[in-house]
Amino acid sequence: MVDDAEKLIARTPETFKEKQNIDARILHEVREIDLKQRRLRVKKTDTGQTTWEPFEQLLVSTGSISIRPDVPGIDAKGIYGVNTLQSGLNVRRVVDEQQPQKAVIIGGGYIGLEMAEALIMRKLEVSLVERSEQVMNTLDSDMGELVSEALMKVGVKLYRNESLTAFETDNGSVQAVVTDQRTLPTDLVILGMGVQPNTGLAQDAGIPLGVKGAIKVNDLMQTEIEGIWAAGDCAECYHLMRRQPFHIALGTVANKMGRVAGINIGGGYATFPGIVGTAVSKICDVEVARTGLQEKEVQDLGLQYVTGKIESSTRAGYYPDSGRIHVKLLAEKGTGRLLGGQIVGKEGAAKRIDVLATALHAELTLDAMINLDLSYAPPYSPVWDPIIIAARVAVKKL
Ligand SMILES: Cc1cc2nc3c(=O)[nH]c(=O)nc-3n(C[C@H](O)[C@H](O)[C@H](O)COP(=O)(O)OP(=O)(O)OC[C@H]3O[C@@H](n4cnc5c(N)ncnc54)[C@H](O)[C@@H]3O)c2cc1C
Repeated sequence: MVDDAEKLIARTPETFKEKQNIDARILHEVREIDLKQRRLRVKKTDTGQTTWEPFEQLLVSTGSISIRPDVPGIDAKGIYGVNTLQSGLNVRRVVDEQQPQKAVIIGGGYIGLEMAEALIMRKLEVSLVERSEQVMNTLDSDMGELVSEALMKVGVKLYRNESLTAFETDNGSVQAVVTDQRTLPTDLVILGMGVQPNTGLAQDAGIPLGVKGAIKVNDLMQTEIEGIWAAGDCAECYHLMRRQPFHIALGTVANKMGRVAGINIGGGYATFPGIVGTAVSKICDVEVARTGLQEKEVQDLGLQYVTGKIESSTRAGYYPDSGRIHVKLLAEKGTGRLLGGQIVGKEGAAKRIDVLATALHAELTLDAMINLDLSYAPPYSPVWDPIIIAARVAVKKL
């Protein structure tokens, strides 16, 4: 949808220099962190030249890496991950220049969903293989089913409960995706199998890791080693609902962690209290959002809960372009506190999740939520906002 990729670059090294006097060195790869001598071994990737750079304070923000399955044929041409701007551009170039007819996406998370949308818009025949019973498995299965329906409605062939086993290749190029149940001929494969923290460098240096191999940090973004900080996808954060350290790879979280780390490294004081697990995505005209805990997480934590699930409309029913919206809430028995929420629906549905995320941060109970002074006018909402209707349904069960 964005024709000029330059528009996606938030800041160039020149802007960093001019506006903030920051020396941003691209094409420089840190190969080793020497904690004893407080220095980094840095390789210039274009010339191969290696130097040692000293530091006093170090922020590790190496992000995450896409999971590449270890299956036969994985190194064939035509198999793409989309984890960097360049990798996205590579896919676009292939679609423009080679005009592939068929694509298979492996994985039904938000990257799989968004790539399905992009390729459907470019008129490819798209199949999506997902090993779970539902796409978007950060939603409960009943809400995930709505997303699966949305995918199929826009023409995506969906293969659930199927696992990738291999890629068939010819002359070094991918020809087909092989699952445990079928062979899907294809011209193009997109990997959307999730990410893991990119922490090999930190681990080799002896910086302690925590949950899912992410770097252990406290609320100030300090690691356990004096003067070494970590933030973003490579670091742990605290999950306020689970009351445990957690790993989540989202830009919204990375930015906040980075800000806190920066303030502290600069001699100020800031803390990042944690996350509630809010995320939003879409497939064509269906929006998908979630926050807090889903049913299986609540069950794993041993909490007792009720759900309130409703179908309503995004605007007043009579208003033009009013669409369906499904809201599901989870609340704890006894205390009545909100535990999580999920929304699937047409335009205007997804950002309602922010009300639920705020309610989670404020530890609101459903009793408090049914009287929230949420806005109403026909272009935006029915008189009773769908969130309040869902809260009322759950309150009755409580
Ligand atoms: C296709 C896609 C869509 C996304 N959409 C959303 C979205 O809509 N909303 C959302 O909240 N999040 C989204 N995300 C996630 C978001 O992009 C990440 O959470 C965020 O970029 C993490 O920021 P970061 O700074 O921790 O890591 P990154 O942005 O990954 O930056 C890490 C940087 O470190 C560099 N690096 C790594 N190792 C070294 C080394 N040894 N030496 C030097 N440099 C190194 C990498 O090259 C990279 O530039 C999306 C991600 C993808 C891939």
